[in-house]
Amino acid sequence: MAVVAFIGLGNMGGPMAANLAKAGHQVHGFDLNPDALSQLKSAGGKAFSSVAEAVSAADAVVTMLPAGKHVREVYTGGNGILANVREGATLIDSSTIDVQSARDVAQAAQEAGMYMVDAPVSGGVGGAAAGTLTFMVGGPDAAFEAAKPFLDIMGKTIVHAGGAGNGQAAKICNNMMLGIQMISVCEAFALAEKLGLDHQKLYDISSTASGQCWSLTSYCPVPGPVATSPANNDYKPGFAAAMMLKDLKLSQEACDAVKAQTPLGAAADALYSAFCEDGNGDVDFSGIIKKLRG
Ligand code: NAD
Repeated sequence: MAVVAFIGLGNMGGPMAANLAKAGHQVHGFDLNPDALSQLKSAGGKAFSSVAEAVSAADAVVTMLPAGKHVREVYTGGNGILANVREGATLIDSSTIDVQSARDVAQAAQEAGMYMVDAPVSGGVGGAAAGTLTFMVGGPDAAFEAAKPFLDIMGKTIVHAGGAGNGQAAKICNNMMLGIQMISVCEAFALAEKLGLDHQKLYDISSTASGQCWSLTSYCPVPGPVATSPANNDYKPGFAAAMMLKDLKLSQEACDAVKAQTPLGAAADALYSAFCEDGNGDVDFSGIIKKLRG
């Protein structure tokens, strides 16, 4: 069994670290928040008071941090991972961050004599607790092979998407599709309401016709047709609108960098920005139907 350092023990990182400890690894954790460290101890891990101390004996390091600036600081800062971890350790960043930061940090890791992967996830807090996350992984083959045994403990579906940064690219492309599709399903239900077409009738027809998509059949934005969708629970997340907006902003940043044309991605960014500015950031992202009804 390995020593795994885990940096960033929040809503996602906490349960992911607990699964590594449950599988028998020695988890050495660090987070700025003392409560997160107490929870790690209850889950069988060991709490440290800095990144440098947490990673010093590590065979592998997992990071689960808010954004690119935190990942850059924690990897490349003077007291960070690259300055303190032993050569040859396996480095896994599972945060959702911008593609350029992922590529820059991977380059710094390679120059320091080690390989790392970017491995953002989908599956949310429920998937983190159940160990059923999907990991989208970017990095060289050798780094992917080294990371996979750890990812297998925390997730169910592990996909190697290509070189450094391609895990992040896959994540933002997928979530841009999701944001656009959710808005399209919401617009269709809002129009159906005005045309006097019953929710369940539209669902029964479109779920078996060409309008079918995950936002309709697994996460229907109106109450009734899909029992587990947040629409039946007053739009409690689920997947909060603020998190959808974060991913749409990352996709638009990437579009600007490579001069891609994504007019619907830009429109989805604008609609979720307005929805969040109205104070709905912590509402499930399917709740945008309320705004689209006008
Ligand atoms: P969170 O805010 O609950 O956790 C982040 C943790 O990082 C916090 O505990 C914070 O104290 C810690 N942290 C910040 N800076 C640090 C530093 N310099 N050193 C050590 N610890 C530091 O966020 P989360 O919901 O766990 O999300 C983490 C990442 O996973 C984000 O990039 C998010 O976009 C992504 N993600 C989240 C979900 C979800 O459903 N919550 C789903 C998929 C992906």
